[in-house]
Amino acid sequence: MKTVIKNIGQLVSGDIRAPRLDADSLVIVNGRIAALGRGLDDDAEVVIDARGSTVMPGLIDSHVHPVFGDFTPRQRAVDFIDSAMNGGVTTAISAGEVHLPGRPKDIVGLKALAIVAAKAYANFRPGGVKVHAGAPILELGMTEADFAEMAAAGVTLVGEIGLGSVKTGKDAAPMVRWAKQHGMTVTIHTGGPSIAGSSPIDADVVLEADPHVVGHINGGTTSLTPPEIERLVATEMALEIVQCGNMKTALHTLRVAREARATHRIIVGNDAPSGTGVIPLGVLRTLSLLAGLGGLDPAEAVACATGNTARVYKLDVGTIAEGRAADLVVCDAPTGSIAQDALGALAAGDLPGISMVLIDGAVTIGRSRNTPPAARAAAVVKGSEPSQGGH
Ligand SMILES: [Zn+2]
Repeated sequence: MKTVIKNIGQLVSGDIRAPRLDADSLVIVNGRIAALGRGLDDDAEVVIDARGSTVMPGLIDSHVHPVFGDFTPRQRAVDFIDSAMNGGVTTAISAGEVHLPGRPKDIVGLKALAIVAAKAYANFRPGGVKVHAGAPILELGMTEADFAEMAAAGVTLVGEIGLGSVKTGKDAAPMVRWAKQHGMTVTIHTGGPSIAGSSPIDADVVLEADPHVVGHINGGTTSLTPPEIERLVATEMALEIVQCGNMKTALHTLRVAREARATHRIIVGNDAPSGTGVIPLGVLRTLSLLAGLGGLDPAEAVACATGNTARVYKLDVGTIAEGRAADLVVCDAPTGSIAQDALGALAAGDLPGISMVLIDGAVTIGRSRNTPPAARAAAVVKGSEPSQGGH
């Protein structure tokens, strides 16, 4: 199966070191990017005309709280993952299935939940989205054998440390080491507690625990202090900025990270569903914040929600390069924007309009039902039509 996307106005790579590609066409073979270049041929079963608009990697939401399927008990909402796909998200990473009613906190139960969540989402993609779930919440008493057992059963994540009984650096550090030894990627809650009954996690705890990711460094929802943020920027950990956090410290994190030449360590998530709600355009809104208010180059902002995250979580998505999965978003300035294209819209503080999403090279939607309308919309000009967007 071969697909060509032609007439691309701007190709955004997702690689923060070289965020713009000099190409106007893209060839996809069997769901993977096979070639990029100028004027590549139309000899394909499916031809998509981007009509001068922008193609970027599908966005990766680094912080979701799914349970099972596409339902969230926290906000009593269905189809929130499909709705996020309409906001450009093609991969979502669980920070813990914490909203499961009756979530078990004993060690056998929490391992079982993580294993079932990992396996269930490996078998089911809501809206086509690749959900990486099975992110156990650590509890006191876990041993290395518990991590070995989960890893052998397909668990690759550790959910936000601090939401369970492990909440000090001393308790977390050995468990983080075991998780890393077994190939898991580890995140930690930071800042004030998100719900009554949990505790604040400050920079000292994070430094002693030494996870891969400083979860919601701008708060989920109550932020770390600016001096604590500065101490964590001065490490090698990934710095996660979320939509459902504090916008002022999100911008402070960006400023400090830019000064430290550490923007390659910024990743972007929603931290939803949560008390703040379900925000289908939350990742796009965060990119608009970083570019529009924070002054970050908009193509670099896109990399923060694509290639940067893929590097941290070792995923074969997030950049436009030969061999990568063809998870793509086609977008443009929205109708009525002062901007001329999608990156200009982000820099202006607007949200781009999405006219097509592809996952593994297959068109999942045409015009998004959630973004404002793209001024120029991609169209399938040969081969099967995309399903219709809009409501
Ligand atoms: Zn949290």
